[in-house]
Amino acid sequence: MGDKEFAFVKEAFESNWIAPVGPHVDMFEKEFCEITGARYAAAVSSGSAAIHLALILLGIQPGDEVICSTLTFAASANPIVYQGATPVFTDSEPRTWNMDCNCLEDAIRDRIRKGKLPKAILIVHLYGQSADIDPIMNLCNQYDIPLIEDAAESLGAYYKGRHTGTFGKFGIFSFNGNKIITCSSGGMLVSNEEGLIKKAKFLATQARDPAPHYQHSHIGYNYRLSNVLAGIGRGQLRVLAERVEARRANFDFYEKELGCLPGIQFMPEAAFGRSNRWLTCLTIDPSRCGSTREDVRLALESENIESRPVWKPLHMQPVFQNYPYYGSGVAEELFDKGLCLPSGSNLSKEDLQRVVKAFLRVYQTNLIQNKN
Ligand SMILES: *Cc1c(COP(=O)(O)O)cnc(C)c1O
Repeated sequence: MGDKEFAFVKEAFESNWIAPVGPHVDMFEKEFCEITGARYAAAVSSGSAAIHLALILLGIQPGDEVICSTLTFAASANPIVYQGATPVFTDSEPRTWNMDCNCLEDAIRDRIRKGKLPKAILIVHLYGQSADIDPIMNLCNQYDIPLIEDAAESLGAYYKGRHTGTFGKFGIFSFNGNKIITCSSGGMLVSNEEGLIKKAKFLATQARDPAPHYQHSHIGYNYRLSNVLAGIGRGQLRVLAERVEARRANFDFYEKELGCLPGIQFMPEAAFGRSNRWLTCLTIDPSRCGSTREDVRLALESENIESRPVWKPLHMQPVFQNYPYYGSGVAEELFDKGLCLPSGSNLSKEDLQRVVKAFLRVYQTNLIQNKN
């Protein structure tokens, strides 16, 4: 937390706005738009809820198909299945780890050949780096398919100078506890179309028709953000720039200390944008360094340092493995070799040095063993 969050929360208590509505919610949306350049925003209870609302507003129904990046957290695709639709997974490109537009084109063409035009394309800006939006947008325009940007991990990240999440028909953000800024839980749905965001707010507050009695002509959801949590969010927006700098500094430190090791490659940053470096990720090539990703992860764990494999691609997940997938194994390889290092915004220099030392120890031991 920064310095301002508690004051905003106190204000919510003092004014007795303890509800999923109130002045902090309105201000949080307004300030969020100012920071990101999004035109309209609806503060909601989670990033997952924001994705779900986007799909509902695009009219996604049972039997429809939605193209989705495979290398991501399950929450990107779960709402597709909530709607009874079919996720169609596409592979990553090595340059950004994000959706490969060649795979996307293969997927679109093949789905059309099989009889269905995909109803939406959901791209993810993974680990805080923007996908290459222009060629993806060209395909969206060519085939007239709306784009949803899952920017849950990329608040504070840009593509060609413009904020991620503001290019598609919808952008979604998350303020879950693990994200770059947090309300403990929460999310934001943004769009450049006012009507869509109005409708999102209506659906997110149980779809109550304008009548003095409770009248409903749509199925609604309880998806709005609490005014108390929006107060936290307002405080967090004020430290976003610092958080991005802290995360980028983590990355720079790790890269400086470990980047020259044979077989280690840090997640590249494409020239078209600026990543928030939410997590520092790298790949470990066992044929060049003598250690696998798991060797390194377990060695760090034995020193009480938590690191994680890169997301397991969704097309490999038991729950999604029967859905279509288009790709050539790039995401699979990133999962096989990829590791996310401790990346909190509050890591001290000593913490970072401890991680680096532990990393070097495994590395050197295994390299020597390998030579013998
Ligand atoms: C965290 C996350 C979500 C879901 O956000 P919640 O607020 O946790 O529901 C969706 N997509 C990605 C890529 C995420 O990292």
